[in-house]
Amino acid sequence: MPIKKTSTNKQAPSTRRKAQAPGARLTMSSAAATPRAKVARRPKRSAIPPAVLYERLLALYPDAHCELDFSSPFQLAVATILSAQCTDKRVNMVTPVLFQRYPTIESLARARQEDVEEIIKSTGFFRNKAKSIIAMAGALVEKHGGAVPSTLDTLVTLPGIGRKTANVILGNAFSVNEGVVVDTHVGRLSTRLGLTREIDPIKVEQVLMRQFPRDRWTMLAHLLIFHGRRVCEAKKPRCSQCALADVCPSAGIGI
Ligand code: SF4
Repeated sequence: MPIKKTSTNKQAPSTRRKAQAPGARLTMSSAAATPRAKVARRPKRSAIPPAVLYERLLALYPDAHCELDFSSPFQLAVATILSAQCTDKRVNMVTPVLFQRYPTIESLARARQEDVEEIIKSTGFFRNKAKSIIAMAGALVEKHGGAVPSTLDTLVTLPGIGRKTANVILGNAFSVNEGVVVDTHVGRLSTRLGLTREIDPIKVEQVLMRQFPRDRWTMLAHLLIFHGRRVCEAKKPRCSQCALADVCPSAGIGI
């Protein structure tokens, strides 16, 4: 789809590229040296209401879904912990081996750290991840009757589970819209599409929760993640091929 010109596109190409480099982060020194640049790097507001943007995304990705494989809340909890700094594809290669070796919460709670580390090694940060999933399994056995709780407040008390992971579990394993999952893709897309100027994930989530109805929160994250992985990548946003370029205030920052 050809890119319609927006006010952002009217900038000189060199200025535009400099102002909105994908994934750019202001350092203290650069911000201090060029105070105006900080303002220029902030995308303008979306050209369309959030509800219309949602429908546009839904039309593009009607089957958007969690791309981690799981067959129970516990498996999703483990897979989500393993997905930190790792691709879902890699996690999906590791979890079948892990769950074959430790098919129940109780068996994983009793697992030896080094055995789990060996299985999940390729997901990175494997020592901390092994520690977290064994400790989480132990806490579920000791304090929750061997089941994953379905409330945010309880989930975030478990080892290895923060608000983002809890939102993933609630939205996808329990169909509970308690919040919006703000991962790296959701954060990036929210900014580029002009939904918010916030960068802190907690603040981004609060903005998104105000802009979209509760029953759309889980799907919204899937839609943004799908578009972020397939088109609006961090380092190479494919603006020239993007179906949202006509309404995106950041159109033109990429190839
Ligand atoms: S790829 Fe699409 S959504 Fe991403 S910055 Fe470019 S036009 Fe906007």
